[in-house]
Amino acid sequence: MKHLSRTALSSFALILILSVLFPLQSCSGGYAAFSDTRFDYFDTVCTLTAYAPSRSVFESAAEDLFAAMEEYDRLFDIYNAYDGLNNLKTVNDRAGEPVEVSDGIIELLAFSLEMYGETGGALNVMIGALSALWHRCREEGVGLPTAEELCEASLHVSPDSLIIDQESRTVQITDPDASVDVGALAKGWVARKLLELLPESGLYSAIIDLGGNVATYGAKPDGSSWRVAIDTESGDYLKVVEVSGLSVVTSGDYQRFYVVDGVKYHHIIDPETRRPAEKNKQVSVICSDPALGDALSTALFILDSASGSALVQKYGVYALGIDADGNVFEYGEYPENAENGETSPEN
Ligand code: ADP
Ligand code: MG
Repeated sequence: MKHLSRTALSSFALILILSVLFPLQSCSGGYAAFSDTRFDYFDTVCTLTAYAPSRSVFESAAEDLFAAMEEYDRLFDIYNAYDGLNNLKTVNDRAGEPVEVSDGIIELLAFSLEMYGETGGALNVMIGALSALWHRCREEGVGLPTAEELCEASLHVSPDSLIIDQESRTVQITDPDASVDVGALAKGWVARKLLELLPESGLYSAIIDLGGNVATYGAKPDGSSWRVAIDTESGDYLKVVEVSGLSVVTSGDYQRFYVVDGVKYHHIIDPETRRPAEKNKQVSVICSDPALGDALSTALFILDSASGSALVQKYGVYALGIDADGNVFEYGEYPENAENGETSPEN
């Protein structure tokens, strides 16, 4: 997802929004802790931290996991083409015709359309025409899209223009002026796929951080959970949560933004106003599936409290956030019994 802003400021903020609190020299029950951080994928910082029986087991697992990240990064890239690969740029460029794509794209887009319905249209993967206008200004760091541009773009964001043909394994955007933008849920979806690789990896347990999307697999060898700090714009912790087998995904207005005349314009667009969403400052979702967490955290960021809490109840997840007035809110029950271990929040 090379379309995301690349300023040093935003990268720094991204690292701050969720930090994994981890003693790296730890060793327990015949397993030692290892970590590998790379800056090559999804335009963000990706870190794998894990307990493994040896360094070589860790390194081999890390190579496999980073190779998978590279594959998905290319597949979901809307800015760069790669030889012999039909990726999302191909799909956007060839709007009007069916494009044969791999299962990863079919699955991600099908999930995206499902979440459009579930979020009442707040999360719309066909928002590309609108988000591109804001993205262009943000990259240049100046100016705002005009009302006319926003109005025209909003005519080309219908999810009905995305046709997925499961039989022929093709996707087609029927509106030539529409385009997909999977930034709201791709990293979470990739984290879900990485979690699926872990049982065969030789790792005892792991925590994967894809720039604000933190997914955990199992608990530490001593039975304790991973500690993840949910940060705020000021750098303080909103909460430190202990998770094993759960994901913590955050959407915030201070990750990627620019400022015009003292007003901050960030990267999450409210389809109703066609402008950066204004109801919340940050929202974190904790649940077992990082793909769902990513989709919901972006949607909850856009939605008001009534719609947001209803969505949280429906999915049985837990959300914690700060609204535009600075009030901390919490929806749902903290998921006490995750699939891979006992969890509990720490206040
Ligand atoms: P991040 O990628 O910083 O972790 P999010 O998961 O909240 O943050 O996703 C924000 C991204 O989602 C934007 O950069 C843009 O690509 C995309 N986007 C913005 N608004 C919407 C929307 N209403 N529906 C779907 N995608 C959106
Ligand atoms: Mg998201």
